Amino acid sequence: MNANEIHVIYGNNYRQMTGEILEKAGLANELCPDMRIGLKPNLVVAKRASEGATTSPVIVEGVIDFLRSHGIQDISIMEGSWVGDDTKRAYRICGYTELAAKYQIPLYDLKEDGFTVQRVAELDIKVCRKPQDVDYLINLPVLKAHCQTLFTCAIKNLKGCIPDSEKRRFHSLGLMKPIGYLAKALTPHFTLVDAIAGDLTFEEGGNPVQMDRLIAGKDPVLVDAYAASLLGYKSADIEYIGIAEQIGAGSADLGKALIREYNEGLKKGNEFKPSPKAARLARKVTAQEACSACYGGLIHALQRLDDAGRLSLLRQPLYIGQGFRGQTGLAGLGIGQCAKGCDQYIAGCPPTAKSIVEFLEENMV
Ligand code: SF4
Repeated sequence: MNANEIHVIYGNNYRQMTGEILEKAGLANELCPDMRIGLKPNLVVAKRASEGATTSPVIVEGVIDFLRSHGIQDISIMEGSWVGDDTKRAYRICGYTELAAKYQIPLYDLKEDGFTVQRVAELDIKVCRKPQDVDYLINLPVLKAHCQTLFTCAIKNLKGCIPDSEKRRFHSLGLMKPIGYLAKALTPHFTLVDAIAGDLTFEEGGNPVQMDRLIAGKDPVLVDAYAASLLGYKSADIEYIGIAEQIGAGSADLGKALIREYNEGLKKGNEFKPSPKAARLARKVTAQEACSACYGGLIHALQRLDDAGRLSLLRQPLYIGQGFRGQTGLAGLGIGQCAKGCDQYIAGCPPTAKSIVEFLEENMV
């Protein structure tokens, strides 16, 4: 797999999708049976994945199955929850204690780990030993919004690999620069993003938005640049992405990225069921058989307009969903290929939230 590749798979059979995307991304070509593999999920808080904050154990189980099927036995799971929560409690509540027992895999609490100091440019960063000691580190972040950094995915998930004292220091340093530098101090070998239903506005969860997809790539900077577009952001909006690129941790140039999408499961994906917060944003939306991958992107785009205080300027009705296929003369704005019978529509199947934001901005009256 080349660093400029991004693989995306849609659907709602998450375990099967995990095996498929790892196969299509060619992960097995990078591995040997005697390697020590570290899995780094996002268990920032002790809340189940259905709330939108933590990595689904179903995906981690899919990764373990894949690795075992390629003869790899030395697998460990490692995480340090945020300063306000207990990693062992998160392991238990999020279903990882059970998973680890089933597969006889160690769970490491990185809050109890030692560290080494990594120099990145002018900054010394304390990085836990366990993620550095493995031969191959697989990063398993959740794609979700973040109240301070706007967005969190591949790079920011690495913050679970530093001691709590260092997490506090990152905040005192303004977060953006140390997070960007951390991607250089500890660059994961592979990233598989849980983009099933990350939170709309907050890293702690509570307002999950169904997106029903997984994203894989080798370059965490590129993965973040792509993932940010799914929440309606440009890479430039997320300061630490640019900092990570400048420091040499990867490339944010989506123009040079090779994006491969596997859509087989998409049309059978769950129909989107908005949470109360998403329903408030979607007041102008008429949906008929809308795929969650499409509707989820629209909800994130509407949230970005709301963040900018511009949602009230959007006066036209919006149409989305397979139920509008073949219909013409719809007075309003169409979201996605199915709604091309509207006065104006944004192409894509599904379009990214970033492209939806730009489309809606252009068509405000
Ligand atoms: S354009 Fe239609 S088929 Fe494609 S993701 Fe949207 S609703 Fe589904």
